[in-house]
Order: sequence, then C-alpha cells, then structure tokens
Amino acid sequence: MAGIIHDARPHRSKQAETDIGPALEQTLLRSAATSAVSGRPDLGTLTELRASGLLATAVPREFGGAGGGAVDINRVVERLARLNPSVAIMAFQHFAVSSRIAEWGSQEQRRTLLPALAEGTCLAASAWSEPGSGAAKRNVSSTAVRRSDGGWVLDGAKSFTTTASVADLYLVLVRTGEPQEDPGSGYGAAGQTFFLVDARNPGLIPDLSLDLVGMRGSATGFVTMHGCRVGDEDRLGPEGHAARIIAGVRESGATLGAVAVGVTQAAFELLVGHLRRRGGLTSPVVRDRLVSLATRVESARAMVERAGARSSADPGTTTLHSKLHASMVAEEVCLEAARMLGSSGYAVTSDLNRMLADARAVGLMGPTNELCRELVASTWPN
Ligand SMILES: Cc1cc2nc3c(=O)[nH]c(=O)nc-3n(C[C@H](O)[C@H](O)[C@H](O)COP(=O)(O)OP(=O)(O)OC[C@H]3O[C@@H](n4cnc5c(N)ncnc54)[C@H](O)[C@@H]3O)c2cc1C
Repeated sequence: MAGIIHDARPHRSKQAETDIGPALEQTLLRSAATSAVSGRPDLGTLTELRASGLLATAVPREFGGAGGGAVDINRVVERLARLNPSVAIMAFQHFAVSSRIAEWGSQEQRRTLLPALAEGTCLAASAWSEPGSGAAKRNVSSTAVRRSDGGWVLDGAKSFTTTASVADLYLVLVRTGEPQEDPGSGYGAAGQTFFLVDARNPGLIPDLSLDLVGMRGSATGFVTMHGCRVGDEDRLGPEGHAARIIAGVRESGATLGAVAVGVTQAAFELLVGHLRRRGGLTSPVVRDRLVSLATRVESARAMVERAGARSSADPGTTTLHSKLHASMVAEEVCLEAARMLGSSGYAVTSDLNRMLADARAVGLMGPTNELCRELVASTWPN
C-alpha cells in the first residue's frame, strides 16, 4: 500500500470545515444533473471534492484531519446531498472508512493512510455487499486464505460498491474462518475479517456495469477479487472479528439519514421555487401542505442531529432510528412534492424524479431499513 503514502511527516491540523464553497456548490449541482443522464461519476467534481478539504472531516487532527465528530460528518454529508446525493454517499463511505481506520487501524495504517485520506489524495470505498450475502452480511462468500509467508489471498465478488473504480482504497469484508452466526451484533458474522486493499492491486477489478435507477453518479458497481494478494499488515482489526467493527459503526452517530435530509431539503426547495413562480404560494391549501412537509423535514433533521450528538441514552439505536425516519421522510416528501408539481413534475427533465430515485436508495443502503427495524427490535427484552 506504499503508493498511497504521500508524506509521513507530521501534518498541519485543519479546522472542521463543513461549508461547501460557491464554486464547488455549482459544480455539484451541474454534475448531479449530468450524471443522472450519463449514469457515470463526474471525475472533475471528484477532483474538486478532493481539493476542497471536506474529505478531512473524519480524520483526527493529529493525522492532518479536521478532527470532526459525527455532527460534522452528518452536516457535511447533508450539505453535499442537497446538491448532489451521489457525491454525498461517496463522501459518506470515505468518512466511514476513515473513522474505522482511526478506531481500529494499526499504528502504521493510521500513520500512512489517515493523512492521505485527509488530503483527499486517497479516496476510500467500502466493499461489503455481495449477491447472496444478505442485508445483514451473514453469508459473505468472498474469502481470504493465509499464505505460507503470512500474507493473504482474497477471492470473491462484491456488488453495490459505491465509488468503485474511482476509489484509491477499498475496505473489503471477507470470510477467514467457517461461517458462523454472531448473535451479539446482528450484523456480520463471526469468522469475517476486514482488509484494506489498494486500488492498484492487480487482483482487484472494479466494474461499473451496474445501471442504477438513482444515485447514478455514485460509481456504485461491482468489485471482483481474483487471487488478490495482500499482506497481513493490510488486515484491519482482529482476524475473524469484523462484526465487532461493524457493531461500532452505528454507535458513532454518523448516519445515512443525513443524505436523506439533504435530498428532502432540495426537493422541498424545488417545490417552493416552482410554486412561487406560478403564484401558488398564496393558496391556504397549498401553504398548509407545505408547512406539513417543512415540519417533516425539520423532524428528520433534528433526529439526524441527535444521532450525531450522541446525546440519547442509547446512541446506536438513535442512529438506526434517524436513518429509518429520515429515509422514509425523504421518500414521502419527494412523492408529495411530485404530486404538488402536477404534470410538470412528470416530465423526465424534472429534477424531482432524480431526487425521488436518490431518496429511495437511502432505505436500501446498509443497514437496509428492514435490517434497521430488526436491529432496533432486538434491543427490546423479550
Ligand atoms: C445506491 C446504493 C449504494 C450502495 N453502496 C454500498 C457500498 O458502498 N458498499 C456496500 O457494501 N454495499 C452497498 N450497497 C448495498 C447495501 O448496503 C445493502 O446492504 C444491500 O443492497 C442489501 O442487499 P439486498 O437488498 O440485496 O439484500 P437481501 O438480503 O437480498 O434483502 C432483500 C430484502 O430483505 C431484507 N432483509 C434481508 N435480511 C434481513 C434481515 N436480517 N432482517 C431484516 N430484513 C432483512 C432487506 O432489507 C431487503 O428488503 C449499496 C446499495 C445501494 C442501493
């Protein structure tokens, strides 16, 4: 993984920066529209994102990052999602991998990878899902087999990997032991292990042939590992105990609900702008419906803020609730906005259709909403 190391000297700390400059805002808006048509990530937008400093949000200050917590992560993700949800989910995955390395990385992994993740010279992706792995990732078929020299060989096929082909680093979930239930976590299974794989590894082959309904600029695709050789120093966390790392994810308070809030806000603003131009804002019936929608947006935002602040008695469960609530609100508000736009919202050219498709994706992303319900219910004593 030596190529990702750019400068191992101590790095200057940055302020937690959650504002997106006007230039990047325009780029994100423009590429949201073009990627929705092309189904491809916009590489120019990603270059600007890398240079923006925003990717440093989740990296501790001692490694050149902004030292942001879940509140900052959720705010950045929400602001990105208001403009370009595809880029927001790429940033979310980057923050998730940065956080896992900060929490579980070896001294060497932290020293070499975190500065590059903060600088934006290394963009990270998570490759956990597989066809047949199940939403709870209990049946992961990809394997890592130990070599005689202590290294590993990874084989298997991942699906729905966001940032596939444009990422520099992949956090890959594989099986290193016999598949077993892990009743403790409800997500992942005993015998699974994480590895950090450099995108230049010749045994790792990304493929963007997956054609999605929404999040079309997110480079969500397949990643195949074929005789993919990595060192034991590329293992993240303890062998066979990836489920412990996964269980800690929701405890962090970072939530995909932030993506949903950004999409909802954008749909609401689009609707209000349309109604204003048509003189519809004076109608008491319209105003009543708009206030109901605005209240829903605020409720979702408040729940995401609460998850990020980790101020509830059970932050992990609050994080699950926030994702569930915000993603459902996003779908409902987008659908209601589509109805209120009337026929103009039914034109292919209406941005509302893209927002509705993007909103749907949040519920499908891990942990899926059904799995969130399952995990929340599992906290109740029988
Ligand atoms: C836009 C997008 C981006 C994504 N990005 C990534 C990524 O970057 N990395 C990555 O690893 N994955 C990613 N995914 C995959 C995502 O994380 C889901 O975990 C995965 O799609 C679930 O697979 P499935 O719906 O095929 O699962 P299935 O198991 O086939 O689920 C079918 C249905 O059953 C429900 N279900 C399954 N198991 C349970 C359970 N135990 N309890 C309750 N309900 C259950 C599911 O919620 C779903 O409704 C992405 C998906 C999308 C749509």
